[in-house]
Amino acid sequence: MKNTSSTHGLWALSAPAAPATTPLSGPVEADVVVIGAGFTGLSAALHLAEAGKSVVVLEAGMIGFGASGRNVGLVNAGMWVMPEEMPKALGPVHGPRLLEFLGNAPAEVFALVRRHGIACEAVANGTLHCAVGGAGLTEIGVRARQWAARGAPVELLDAGETALRLGGGRYMGALLDLRAGTIQPLAYVRGLARAALACGAQIHTESPATAVAEQGLGWEVTTPSGRVRARWLVAATDTYTQGPNENLRREQVGLPYFNMATPPLPEALRATILPGSEGCWDTREVLSSFRTDAAGRLVFGSVGRLGVADRALHRAWAERAMVRIFPQLEGIGFESAWFGWIGMTSDNLPRLHLPGRNAIAVSGYNGRGIAPGTVFGKAIARYICGDCPLAAMPLPVSTITPAPWRRMREAYYTGGAAALHLVADRI
Ligand SMILES: Cc1cc2nc3c(=O)[nH]c(=O)nc-3n(C[C@H](O)[C@H](O)[C@H](O)COP(=O)(O)OP(=O)(O)OC[C@H]3O[C@@H](n4cnc5c(N)ncnc54)[C@H](O)[C@@H]3O)c2cc1C
Repeated sequence: MKNTSSTHGLWALSAPAAPATTPLSGPVEADVVVIGAGFTGLSAALHLAEAGKSVVVLEAGMIGFGASGRNVGLVNAGMWVMPEEMPKALGPVHGPRLLEFLGNAPAEVFALVRRHGIACEAVANGTLHCAVGGAGLTEIGVRARQWAARGAPVELLDAGETALRLGGGRYMGALLDLRAGTIQPLAYVRGLARAALACGAQIHTESPATAVAEQGLGWEVTTPSGRVRARWLVAATDTYTQGPNENLRREQVGLPYFNMATPPLPEALRATILPGSEGCWDTREVLSSFRTDAAGRLVFGSVGRLGVADRALHRAWAERAMVRIFPQLEGIGFESAWFGWIGMTSDNLPRLHLPGRNAIAVSGYNGRGIAPGTVFGKAIARYICGDCPLAAMPLPVSTITPAPWRRMREAYYTGGAAALHLVADRI
């Protein structure tokens, strides 16, 4: 399972090389074994190694093979759930705590990037949540008011200001969130890996955990050519879970999401599109997202799986949709395309599980995992080090509950997006 331009698209082409890693071979011992080398697992490993713990990370594929290497790269503050809904969903203790934790999360990402000198095209210029129609305008208005009441640096832009910031589009307005920004996600996750290695963590790629067993006071994790014994187990496999922790995957419904990138735009054209380099998405249920990268490409995304049957129709739709927002891109087309699975939970909130003694898992970021995965990885490390008791965690502990009708709902999302993109010219 390599990260190639067909699986990871532009990000595989423009990220700095991954640090050299090898499969696990033979038995090893450590304080902590982490399964999964995405944002969550590598942030946990980095913070554990910085705190002096011996850590072994096992990754089935390559670093960033899962969602961490395939996403849009929007470093968001918060979840889809409205700020005022959070206390209703999680209670008066965890609700406000999670809001504050996630609201500060982008700043933690950008600080970590600076501290470890991670070359990942980090741009902290904010994001624009673009309103489609009156309903979209109402939604961003409510969101802006609720965040502003908590002191967050958010601003409502009218249609004219939005068009100026975008260099196109016919949106009714936008919510500018100055806490947020963009990164090159595969470069960021590889940078986290490099930083963790520099602090003494071991990372073994092409090393799927095939069996996990509680043993004595700790855990034994088996791979095809090795074995790790550790006091603590961190399961950081989220939507891409395979093997022994499969139940983590079963509590999520997978939503396929694709991205397509133009070639680097000529400077004169580039200057007309997102001159402030904000990351953007819209309020539609089947949403679109767009952002630029450091070389001046436009990365355009929406819901859909790029399978044999639907790749061409999503591509044709995306070309039309992009040109409707940015008419100046007529005839430019895309040079790369890729997709990944976003894991949705029943209430659009992430989950904290304790799957055994000295074992912890956080997953289910609902397409908002860059900043949350980073800060939850750090929280996991602090919990294991005894610096953050369970009662102080930003989420309550829950039991793993399979999502009903999971496969049917995944087929519905996949088929529904394809049907919509076949018939819709709605921007
Ligand atoms: C297309 C797309 C767009 C998105 N856009 C955004 C965005 O713009 N902003 C944002 O914040 N979030 C976004 N997300 C969500 C975000 O990418 C994820 O929430 C986040 O990457 C999850 O990180 P993670 O480390 O928990 O899991 P992952 O990055 O998925 O890592 C899990 C890893 O575990 C490995 N693994 C699984 N089973 C085993 C095993 N048995 N043994 C060893 N290894 C195993 C997998 O190979 C994988 O590499 C998007 C997701 C997708 C798919």
